Amino acid sequence: MKCEGIEGCERFLSPGKGRGVRATKHFEVGDLVFACPAYCYVLTVNERGAHCEFCFTRREGLSKCGKCKQAYYCNVECQKGDWSMHKLECSAMCSYGENWCPSETVRLVARIIVKQKVQTEPTQSERLLSLKEFESHMDKIDNEKNEMNQTDTAALHHFYSKYLDIPSNDVLTELFAQVNCNGFTIEDEELSHLGSAVFPDVALMNHSCSPNVIVTYKGTGAEVRAVQKISPGEEIFNSYIDLLYPTEDRMERLKDSYFFTCDCTECTTKSKDKAKMEIRQKLSAPPEPEEVQKMVVYARNVIEEFRRAKHYKNILPIHFLFVVLDFTAPPSELLEICELSLEKMGSLFVETNVYMLHMMYQAMGVCLYMQDWDGALKYGEKIVHPYSVHYPQYSLNVASMYLKLGRLYMGLEKKTQGVKALQKAIDIMNIAFGKEHHYVAEIKKEMDECE
Ligand SMILES: [Zn+2]
Ligand SMILES: [Zn+2]
Ligand SMILES: [Zn+2]
Repeated sequence: MKCEGIEGCERFLSPGKGRGVRATKHFEVGDLVFACPAYCYVLTVNERGAHCEFCFTRREGLSKCGKCKQAYYCNVECQKGDWSMHKLECSAMCSYGENWCPSETVRLVARIIVKQKVQTEPTQSERLLSLKEFESHMDKIDNEKNEMNQTDTAALHHFYSKYLDIPSNDVLTELFAQVNCNGFTIEDEELSHLGSAVFPDVALMNHSCSPNVIVTYKGTGAEVRAVQKISPGEEIFNSYIDLLYPTEDRMERLKDSYFFTCDCTECTTKSKDKAKMEIRQKLSAPPEPEEVQKMVVYARNVIEEFRRAKHYKNILPIHFLFVVLDFTAPPSELLEICELSLEKMGSLFVETNVYMLHMMYQAMGVCLYMQDWDGALKYGEKIVHPYSVHYPQYSLNVASMYLKLGRLYMGLEKKTQGVKALQKAIDIMNIAFGKEHHYVAEIKKEMDECE
């Protein structure tokens, strides 16, 4: 078997980091470094009917699978193309009905097991790294992760044993661990969750909090574009996490999910931390450091609670407030919870403090869910400028915030502001997604239609 590699980059041993990817040629900002088809992927349950299960095309009028009436396709070709994977779930969904509820990770792993059986040659997704080589970090897994892994293993047996030749528990446990630290979530242009996938070559890139590439998706494929100039010999770094938060929070997140300590420039200089955690200056007396620390702990706890709830239940980011309260509280109450925590933190933190922004983002999500467009706009307007200060120059979080804001303005007939915000989104997306991406074309069309 010969390894054809990828033109312009190569696998190498990165000092202190293990294997990684480095450039063998020069890349300008916005250049496509490489593209990687998914080795395996799965559409999230919440997006059924809105996207084709096979190619992830988003449009109205998709046709549904006649048997389960749950999966939707562009046409017969897409349905045929998807059958080898969909057959794992089609009749099971019919017989289990509402009790069919494997997690997205379980659904993805079931597909990987099928793929590994039929695919013996290396795929186009594994030109630099094969799935078999994924790190599992089995030795570093704590009790909580171990329990989650056991739950997933049990669910796989429960929902798939009839349709799948399931490997031994040791193999399965390792596979879940590998997918947990090497899997990707696919998001759309507004960062709404579309599904989960494995892209082995993309997973080979190491992390930096000041990444020189961004990963975006076109259909079910991943594309890696330069967001900083990259010279031959330089390592190519992707970011694994949300870069909004201060160094200590990022470190904790990376340690917990990916088992390493980041030593990038941002993490050593902490240059953005002060602005990210800015304290009010016009208080009658400056707050005690303990008081500030207490508030930071409070903020981190709130964020962590949401993150875990999302992780366990696999719900759209926008909706995870609802999950925390198990859908028992009406949205208006949830909005009140956001506002109360903003009030509490606002006694110490300025409005551009990232913990304030986090809660405003949640509140905006609730407003969008409630179709309270003015409310969503009010939060979005407060978020977008501090976002562009705290995040790197080219950021999907900033682009998607401008995009949401622009679409809200357009919907509310505020066309001048709308066009301005959409243009800001396009300026970032031209680099991150490439000028040819259909998302960019769609936004341009939205701008033209209003003239
Ligand atoms: Zn399709
Ligand atoms: Zn079906
Ligand atoms: Zn870092």
